[in-house]
Amino acid sequence: MPERWIDFRSDTVTKPTPGMRRAMAEAEVGDDVFGEDPTVNRLQERVAELLGKESAIFVPSGTMANLVAIRTHCRPGDEMICEAHCHLLHYEQAGYAQIAGVAARPVEGRYGVMRLEQLERLVRPANAHFPQTRLITLENTHNRGGGTIQPYPLIESICQWAAQHGLRRHLDGARLWNAAVATGIPPAEWAKHFDTVSVCFSKGLGAPVGSALVGPKELIQQAHRHRKVLGGGMRQAGILAAAALYALDHHIPRLAEDHANAQRLAEALARFDLVELDPPRPETNMVFFRISPRWGTPGQLTEALRQQGILVLPTPEGKIRMVTHLDVCGADVDRFVHVMEKILSANRSTKI
Ligand SMILES: *Cc1c(COP(=O)(O)O)cnc(C)c1O
Repeated sequence: MPERWIDFRSDTVTKPTPGMRRAMAEAEVGDDVFGEDPTVNRLQERVAELLGKESAIFVPSGTMANLVAIRTHCRPGDEMICEAHCHLLHYEQAGYAQIAGVAARPVEGRYGVMRLEQLERLVRPANAHFPQTRLITLENTHNRGGGTIQPYPLIESICQWAAQHGLRRHLDGARLWNAAVATGIPPAEWAKHFDTVSVCFSKGLGAPVGSALVGPKELIQQAHRHRKVLGGGMRQAGILAAAALYALDHHIPRLAEDHANAQRLAEALARFDLVELDPPRPETNMVFFRISPRWGTPGQLTEALRQQGILVLPTPEGKIRMVTHLDVCGADVDRFVHVMEKILSANRSTKI
């Protein structure tokens, strides 16, 4: 085993920094199910304010934040419009169907970005034959799309259209921080077009656990009930909230470094003949690429890198995903490029 793995699989692998651990150790706590944890309360107020909403609720994961949001917006038999490759559809066990009883109407976007014209006929008329179209969800940045930023004017027009048709709007903003830093458009500006927004503290922000759902007070009150039945009522959760507060104070602007590292990584990869970036340009902290079958499979490349102490993630679409974050630096990117040069130029017969 190498002394230190360079882990590009996900921005969820970050470990709490010494400063964050100190903040956690010193956190004032209480029983949050009674609403008495002062640190959780402080975090909820802070996040609501950052996103320009009345209220927020702290939850253990982004999956729970999204599911709780869907349950506040929809009843069983309702339908939600979403992008065909969104996290909600692929990586959350179809909880919207399994637990909320909601049907999904997926729309194929380009790198996760849908066009308004694709949506225009999707709202179902009120008729006993049909599910009721109740909700649209968007994801920003879009994970499977490649860390893609939804164009701001598009969000404006999609949400305006949705409101005109009486649809609720939810944003899966697990990486909204990245979109905000990359564009300079503040989180609240993005959030104002949506009824509810979920955000994660445990991705690029580097906290060990936690997400939040923000929205109008009345919806967040309902969200409390849904969180409890899903098993998300936590007691002295201030220890975790302290990490999230620390992350909000210290780790937002530094996301720009992750974006710069992803850019460098992509530029280096683009110089290899055997590599094709897909999407061609990273917009935030994710890089996806294909390896030519002339060299081998994504699985073989993943293994060859692993033997050199570098971890990457092969995807179901036959690509390799690399994510930059708090725990990888520019020198790690250089090390990866150096290892790739060796691996790709090696005699094929020595390949794994
Ligand atoms: C990570 C992620 C989530 C939530 O994941 P959890 O592992 O449940 O915290 C939700 N949406 C997107 C786009 C994500 O990348």
